[in-house]
Amino acid sequence: MNIPKSNLPRVVIIGGGFAGINLAKTLANKNLQVVLIDKHNYHTFQPLLYQVSSSGLEPDSIAYPLRKIIKKHKTSFFRLAEVEQILPEEKQVLTSIGNIPYDYLVIATGTKTNYFGNKSIKTNSMPMKTVPQALNIRSLILQNFEKAAIADSKKEREAFLNFVIVGAGPTGVELAGAIAELKNNILPRDYRDLNPSDMHIHLLEGADRVLPPMSLHASKKSAKFLKALGVKVHCNTFVKDYDGLTVTTNSDLVMQSETLIWAAGVTGAPVGGLTADILQGNANRYHVNAYNQIEGYDDIFAIGDIALMISNTYPKGHPQVAQPAIQQGKLLGKNLLRLIDNKPLKPFVYRDKGSMATIGRNKAVVDLKRYKFGGFFAWFIWMFVHLMSLVGFRNRIIVLFNWTYNYINFDKAARLIIRPFKK
Ligand SMILES: Cc1cc2nc3c(=O)[nH]c(=O)nc-3n(C[C@H](O)[C@H](O)[C@H](O)COP(=O)(O)OP(=O)(O)OC[C@H]3O[C@@H](n4cnc5c(N)ncnc54)[C@H](O)[C@@H]3O)c2cc1C
Repeated sequence: MNIPKSNLPRVVIIGGGFAGINLAKTLANKNLQVVLIDKHNYHTFQPLLYQVSSSGLEPDSIAYPLRKIIKKHKTSFFRLAEVEQILPEEKQVLTSIGNIPYDYLVIATGTKTNYFGNKSIKTNSMPMKTVPQALNIRSLILQNFEKAAIADSKKEREAFLNFVIVGAGPTGVELAGAIAELKNNILPRDYRDLNPSDMHIHLLEGADRVLPPMSLHASKKSAKFLKALGVKVHCNTFVKDYDGLTVTTNSDLVMQSETLIWAAGVTGAPVGGLTADILQGNANRYHVNAYNQIEGYDDIFAIGDIALMISNTYPKGHPQVAQPAIQQGKLLGKNLLRLIDNKPLKPFVYRDKGSMATIGRNKAVVDLKRYKFGGFFAWFIWMFVHLMSLVGFRNRIIVLFNWTYNYINFDKAARLIIRPFKK
């Protein structure tokens, strides 16, 4: 892998997500050699993927080159590779470009889409976890508009204009709101040959309310905002099957749709080779102690979405959102420095900064510890927090410019089918 030999202990970090980059930043120019490995050469700001899918933003404004993050870190290296296996006895990591030995190993591989074992849903639905997947959704939506414009029959046109989103967590709710904005603001202008009332957005949720991880207040408000935008919400509804056209559910609801977007769940993306406990069932997260050490290993750690740290306050582990990943990355960096200085490690304590979701233009819901609110002010806070959390000054400026332009013109600038999607 062409990493120079060094007398410094080597930390290998697998994954340049929120957890991995915050760890790498904390270890910058310290007495450690850092090797960051990722299968993409960029960090993805997943909270704004839905805006790429719905033509609001170009992908390069929510992705950031990993080499640029570490360019001033003199003892850090990046390698573009997929990690295939860990050999803990030999303290080696096997990757698609060769092997690398480590002194300390950190697994920060996050999650992947969970289809709960349903093969036809996996084959026919659209996931939204990565930039290429978000671009696929964008292309498919625009291609379906074009096909609807030339459809021979009403039935055929309806299938192209029926958009089904499964999972009404923050991702599903935000995407449904953004697609509704396309229907309300773009369709009437760009596609005068289509009737906007023929387009339907269905949001399906297995629980009895939208935004189940958030407060009841946030659920009620967001359901109201979605209704006002014309989104049809179906709670207590599970998709049983999807063959690429027909959506069948646990109820009488059967729909014809060319587009089913799967936002119904994630499962850990562990790397092979460890005998450590991986939680059974769908979670697939590494059991870690309060210092993020994987059970049974002193020199292997897991942080972020892939780590399951059970405590009295979080008996099911921390929520799989950005803040635990960021905070664990920063603390583990400090703890690794303590470890090489033979100092005691500090346990992780999660500081919950609240949660939020936006629903179309001007509307959002925010849950803080003491206050819960929704509407325009919440939307403003949502924009500010997301803008400030983006990696890179350039990306912040581009996103701010796009949002301002879109807001003033009721427009979405990125309506391009650059790479057509083939089912
Ligand atoms: C669509 C969407 C919307 C979201 N919205 C929000 C939100 O609004 N607010 C919020 O707080 N959270 C949100 N989340 C969750 C948040 O993005 C995650 O909790 C966070 O990204 C977890 O960080 P991580 O570092 O653990 O993993 P990730 O950010 O997923 O990073 C994992 C990295 O590991 C790399 N990797 C994986 N396997 C390998 C391998 N074998 N070899 C090499 N590299 C590998 C991946 O390429 C990736 O770069 C959202 C997630 C999604 C998918």
